[in-house]
Amino acid sequence: MTEWNKRTKAVHAGTRRSQYNEVSEAIFLTQGFVYDTAEDAQQRFLKAGEDEFIYARYGNPTTAMFEDRIAAIEGAEDAFATASGMAAVSGALMSVLKAGDHVVSARALFGSCLYVLEEVLTRYGVEVTFVDGTDLAQWKAALRPDTKIAFFESISNPALEVADLPGIAKLAHDVGAMVMVDNVFATPVYSRALELGADAVIYSATKHIDGQGRALAGVILGSKEFIRGTVEPYMKHTGGSMSPFTAWMLVKGLEHMDLRVRAQTASALHIAKGLEGHPKLTRVIYPGLESHPQYQLCMDQIGAGGTVLAIDAGSQEASFKLLNALGIFLISNNLGDAKSIATPPASTTHQRLPADQKAHLGITPGLIRLSVGLEDPDDLLRDLLAALDAV
Ligand SMILES: *Cc1c(COP(=O)(O)O)cnc(C)c1O
Repeated sequence: MTEWNKRTKAVHAGTRRSQYNEVSEAIFLTQGFVYDTAEDAQQRFLKAGEDEFIYARYGNPTTAMFEDRIAAIEGAEDAFATASGMAAVSGALMSVLKAGDHVVSARALFGSCLYVLEEVLTRYGVEVTFVDGTDLAQWKAALRPDTKIAFFESISNPALEVADLPGIAKLAHDVGAMVMVDNVFATPVYSRALELGADAVIYSATKHIDGQGRALAGVILGSKEFIRGTVEPYMKHTGGSMSPFTAWMLVKGLEHMDLRVRAQTASALHIAKGLEGHPKLTRVIYPGLESHPQYQLCMDQIGAGGTVLAIDAGSQEASFKLLNALGIFLISNNLGDAKSIATPPASTTHQRLPADQKAHLGITPGLIRLSVGLEDPDDLLRDLLAALDAV
């Protein structure tokens, strides 16, 4: 199986067939599993084998298919499926950390990730230092011998800054810290995170892995030792495990993830090029545009700009007019969906942030994040240009 390329793994890896030899993966909607004898039950609790399950919070055949398939695609030894992206982020952090530990994190983070690092971890005696994720000098200055984790998004949400993964990993590993990457924007299709130095890769599977806005889900990937020795004991006892129904949707979603994400990425580039320099926009931010400050870094690490771009209409008033004039893009807050979605971060996902922090992170009142879907790219560009005419 290791010889297969990602697209083949996405269709076949991890498949477990029942006695009926079904073609499409079966869904096992069961929380429990029957033991033939009391001795079998005792043995299962002592040490469960590869294909032996105890309780769906610990594992389930359909969930295991998803874990094995996404691990194969990512090139990770193992994976743990979680109830949401935030269950994955908080679980990965909490399973490793204890009071007195130190974490260094990029400041430009998804709002809920920032809450976990800033409000939750610190309440349990973990010290967190925030740095400008694109500035290696700040990482170097903040990392200490007691730093346990370096945490960042491969491409930040919503300002789309690209982190120097190998650079940060080298500095973190020099002090013995673990490198955890929230890799949503790079997507499993383009990810080379483990090869570039990440120790743990985290996805909100709600985004490109499902890709159709149906499920809330997440996954933590890494070495077998980390996933089964550190993450699993924490997750299975604290309750953030994935439902088998969700796992089944994701298994089927993975089959066409590569095709979807590549098409969405091509459309995002088409739209970014079509909007760049528009007189009513103060900025068009897309890591796949040569004008992006980390364009080369993004090409070296990810090889593409991804499915999300951001535009700045200059003011909240102009951005609201633009949003209200859109015909295809939906005003919502998911991303990686088949449907194109426009999000004004300053008034929605990042509303909670104080004004100075928003300004510092480039979350201006006129900023609109555009998640590009599977519609015709010319229709999408026309929709945006027409909406800009209305501003
Ligand atoms: C969406 C998202 C999350 C949280 O995922 P949920 O599935 O909504 O819990 C975390 N990090 C990033 C970068 C995201 O985009």
